[in-house]
Amino acid sequence: MTIKDRYDVVVVGSGPGGLAAAIAAKQNGAEDVLIIERDVELGGILLQCIHNGFGVEILKQDLPGPAYAQRFINEALGMGIETLLDAMVLDITPGRRIYASGRGAGFAEIEARAIVLAMGCRERTRAQIRLPGTRPAGVFTAGTAQRWVNVEGHMPGSRFVVLGSGDIGMIMARRLTLEGAKVERVLEIMPFLTGLTRNYVQCLLDYNVPLHLSHTVKRIIGEKRIEAVETVRVDERWNPVEGSEEIVPCDTLLLSVGLIPENELSRQAGVRIDPITGGPFVDDSFETSVPGIFAAGNVVHVYDLVDWVSEAGYTAGKSAAVFAQRERAREIRHIPLLAGNNVRYVVPQELDKDRLGQGNIRLQLRVRAPIEAPVWVEARANGKLVTRAPEPYARPGEMVTLTLTPRQYEEVNHASALTVAVIKR
Ligand SMILES: Cc1cc2nc3c(=O)[nH]c(=O)nc-3n(C[C@H](O)[C@H](O)[C@H](O)COP(=O)(O)OP(=O)(O)OC[C@H]3O[C@@H](n4cnc5c(N)ncnc54)[C@H](O)[C@@H]3O)c2cc1C
Repeated sequence: MTIKDRYDVVVVGSGPGGLAAAIAAKQNGAEDVLIIERDVELGGILLQCIHNGFGVEILKQDLPGPAYAQRFINEALGMGIETLLDAMVLDITPGRRIYASGRGAGFAEIEARAIVLAMGCRERTRAQIRLPGTRPAGVFTAGTAQRWVNVEGHMPGSRFVVLGSGDIGMIMARRLTLEGAKVERVLEIMPFLTGLTRNYVQCLLDYNVPLHLSHTVKRIIGEKRIEAVETVRVDERWNPVEGSEEIVPCDTLLLSVGLIPENELSRQAGVRIDPITGGPFVDDSFETSVPGIFAAGNVVHVYDLVDWVSEAGYTAGKSAAVFAQRERAREIRHIPLLAGNNVRYVVPQELDKDRLGQGNIRLQLRVRAPIEAPVWVEARANGKLVTRAPEPYARPGEMVTLTLTPRQYEEVNHASALTVAVIKR
């Protein structure tokens, strides 16, 4: 395919965030839209997620990952959206020049009127959590093992320990059990689950895989291949509790210890990064701190459900198309969104005053600590309650959503900041 040297909107990454952004950009008047993807296929991480659970919120269907992705791929290709596969974006300038390289294009230099960053995230590795012990084969991130089993058809081992109760680890515990492996246990250093409760029930409880909270790996044992791990209980400050050590034989250790938004390109483009989320600061149109550069999906913050990624992609793509069609003449007036009581972060990090009133705005947040009792999720403008919604509980592994409606914008509009908090009812 011949790639032009100028596009209205260029989307980097073809996961659900990127696909939705490209579709929305085209639907909202962008004449030419290009998706650049480093993999040889469109679809992103969904292609290896063959379990169901995708699309429950926005499609009202419970689909496997590849089926969910295929709907968006068909729609994007049917609309004439161009794609450049097998091409890695290496650099983006603040002036929206994109440099990409790969078998798909050789070396390409493309100018975009607007860009949507949708590079997803990557997994935290053994080095990043400083896991002591020898360095034998058999230590994998859960996502790598998932790709092996679901896409490439290899089993990474037969007797597993999983470190971390994130969703990918729990999903892999079930997957490996179904493939005939023995999953000895899942260890979680926190005193609570870090993934979705539904995955705990469907992947661990249903398959008799024990979950050990407040536990971690003290040491990896083995020379050529991992032979066992030494596990230990930890106190509330993560100090090992002496005498609680246990040797658990295994030939494979899977790490499900967190995801990091993939933002090297964003930094190169001069985008301001939030140290808490690891992703760009965005406003409610998902525009970053660099005009004309938008971001959507796991690149912004790690989502638990794909539906919200697609929704964010639509917003970012629509905003990018609008940007591409007019030169920005106005000065943007932002209202900061602040994380209040028991809130770790809230996305977006700011609201654009001039867009208030154009529709509902969904605020998404994660709590710091679990509250296993009914809670209020509330937003206050200069201390005055603007809105609140009841939830049966609040858990760090499950994203919390609060919707602002146009009715509430009058109060928000005059505020110097909006603070979101989660408190016991
Ligand atoms: C194992 C697992 C299980 C999950 N299970 C569920 C579930 O049951 N239900 C649910 O609703 N959600 C689930 N999710 C969450 C959901 O799938 C993700 O939130 C969503 O897929 C993220 O989409 P994204 O577009 O942000 O990123 P991705 O899908 O990761 O896409 C990012 C794309 O960007 C490309 N890219 C990155 N850098 C570059 C570059 N420099 N140049 C070119 N291309 C680049 C990558 O190759 C990739 O294709 C799961 C996620 C995982 C990882």
